[in-house]
Amino acid sequence: MTEHVSALDLFTIGIGPSSSHTVGPMRAAAQFNDELRATGKTSQPIRVTLFGSLGATGIGHGTKNAILAGLEGNHPETCDPQHVRELTENPNVEFVFEPRTHLPRHSNAMKFESAGVERMFYSVGGGFVETDDLQPKPSHEVPYPYQTAVELLEICEREKLTIAQVGMANEQTQRPDRDVVQELKRIWHAMKTCIEAGLETEGVLPGYLKVERRAASIHRRLETREGDQSMEALQAYAIAVNEENAAGNRVVTAPTNGAAGIIPAVAYYALKHRNISEEKLAIEYLITAATIGGLYKRNASISGAEAGCQGEVGSACSMAAAALAQVLGATPRQVENAAEIAMEHNLGLTCDPVGGFVQLPCIERNAIAACTAVAAVRLALNGTGQHKISLDTVIETMRQTGADMSTKYKETSMGGLAVNVVEC
Ligand code: SF4
Repeated sequence: MTEHVSALDLFTIGIGPSSSHTVGPMRAAAQFNDELRATGKTSQPIRVTLFGSLGATGIGHGTKNAILAGLEGNHPETCDPQHVRELTENPNVEFVFEPRTHLPRHSNAMKFESAGVERMFYSVGGGFVETDDLQPKPSHEVPYPYQTAVELLEICEREKLTIAQVGMANEQTQRPDRDVVQELKRIWHAMKTCIEAGLETEGVLPGYLKVERRAASIHRRLETREGDQSMEALQAYAIAVNEENAAGNRVVTAPTNGAAGIIPAVAYYALKHRNISEEKLAIEYLITAATIGGLYKRNASISGAEAGCQGEVGSACSMAAAALAQVLGATPRQVENAAEIAMEHNLGLTCDPVGGFVQLPCIERNAIAACTAVAAVRLALNGTGQHKISLDTVIETMRQTGADMSTKYKETSMGGLAVNVVEC
């Protein structure tokens, strides 16, 4: 059976600054806490070992706070971001960092030990967590199974459906327990709220880099200018989300936190500058983005620790391009073309966050990728959808490039800008 990647798993409401280093570890810690509670062992000392990328950039990405919050029983969806930020130590919890140990299953590995109980967890990107227990999740058969973009297009043509319609039919079958439309509306509302909060908040982001927030001042300046300012506004929307993320506030993982600005910003641009309705954005836009995101998650990776920034920002850029093309009325082949163009020009993008914070280059990188997504749609809409390099080819190329990339460039802050920007 082809694995369906659910939109409700790809887009989850959580907190910043990182899906793999904050959201995933909090989920793992909460799961370990549940296990200790079930056996009445919660008062015993706990030892947490963070391997690979988690060990290298865990401090800047808020991993310790997230784990302490998870061990208290908090969850990313419902926790108080302020409380998580304030959690710095717990005398009962010892942390061990092993940045140079890369376990074969995934670079983002965590070991929890307490009272004779030992569990390994892997934060595999986008807030998804796996354990050594390889039991597959119960899965419902979907009406339109596909593995590749080519198969997805064949279904669209055979059934005379859009990519959004195929995605929604599969999602509703896969998640019979959830009201998919209502949940997508809730996700869109959280994205919009996050942009608007970021456009109103000034100040300095956490961490010794002392990065000033810019979204609010850019947005204010744009309101006084004449002429088309839609591209500048789009950049401000993306920066707003990523500043909220860097501050550890409420954001939607889309499909990761480092790349969380692109999909909401392009949607907000469509709302404010292309007259697309909120209903269409919540449903058609988000389900198309998730359908394309599922191809990346299944056939390559959305994890910076596995594929570099091309896996995070590149995937989000491609998902946003596909989604915008869809709500602007593109054919399935034009949607696939937009997704392909957007990723093609992100191939090879490394992950090198300065100081291990999800700020430099992450925040601006989202602004530029949002513009790339819109540019990709413009190019695709001026064509017929016929093109030489397929989306499947760029996804496979991204996977291979990620596999060949040195670990220095995979969320370890051991190469690139992270070692060339002088700390002051
Ligand atoms: S550089 Fe890219 S992949 Fe790395 S933390 Fe920043 S946004 Fe994520």
